[in-house]
Amino acid sequence: MNTHAAARLAALSPQGRQHLQAVLHPPPALLVFDFDGTLAPIVAQPDAARAPLAVARALEALMQHHVVAIVTGRAVDDVAGRLGFVPHHVLGSHGAEDPADVQSAERIAHHRSALDELRAACDGSWAASLGDAGVQVEDKGLSLAFHYRLSRDRQHALSVVRGLLAEHGGGLRTFDGKCVVNAMADEAPDKADAVETLVARTGISRVVFAGDDVNDEPVFERRRPGWFTVKVGGDPRQSAAEFHLGGTAEMALFLAACLRCSR
Ligand SMILES: [Mg+2]
Repeated sequence: MNTHAAARLAALSPQGRQHLQAVLHPPPALLVFDFDGTLAPIVAQPDAARAPLAVARALEALMQHHVVAIVTGRAVDDVAGRLGFVPHHVLGSHGAEDPADVQSAERIAHHRSALDELRAACDGSWAASLGDAGVQVEDKGLSLAFHYRLSRDRQHALSVVRGLLAEHGGGLRTFDGKCVVNAMADEAPDKADAVETLVARTGISRVVFAGDDVNDEPVFERRRPGWFTVKVGGDPRQSAAEFHLGGTAEMALFLAACLRCSR
């Protein structure tokens, strides 16, 4: 596919900078970032993940010109203390948790209860198998995450998670991340829905979106003219993003380029 070939363009190439300038100038644009693997390096203990200081300061500077948002797989409360700055918007659980959406209490309760059967199985009949396989279950309310980065045998851990989901994952959307499998209500919003929500809420249609993982691909796939989509790390040929950054180590550099384009 052409879109996949296009992802080989480096975000910081002359072409990338030119496109970035067109999206960011004149401000304001909407800047949306995933957290783990995008702003913060992936670490063995997910609880140790933090945005580097240079990244936090650069995002704070960008907030003077643009609307800055985080759309993360983590719960909103979890990510807030890891950012080192306070963005304009934070959406959690892959876009399903939106604190600004005050109308949605009933819908959220519905999405949360869709996970009840799976939750019960994790605490009950499947608890021992998950524990033995070294799978850590994280309940984010609107999604369940099965982490197996620290398992001795990741292949086995993954097969245990798949078995659990085959038995108790009916009516759920499941998707893989980096050493993690996520499950959430099938009709819950995904990250692409979350970005659309932010576009509608802010009235800003020029968008920069950066992400590193499978669950960021729906955003890349739904990109429109006037968007700058960046896949961070990994194999850019596997992504529908238009542009590519080598990894989180280049993020501060990318944000500095964004800042230059904004003045
Ligand atoms: Mg990520």
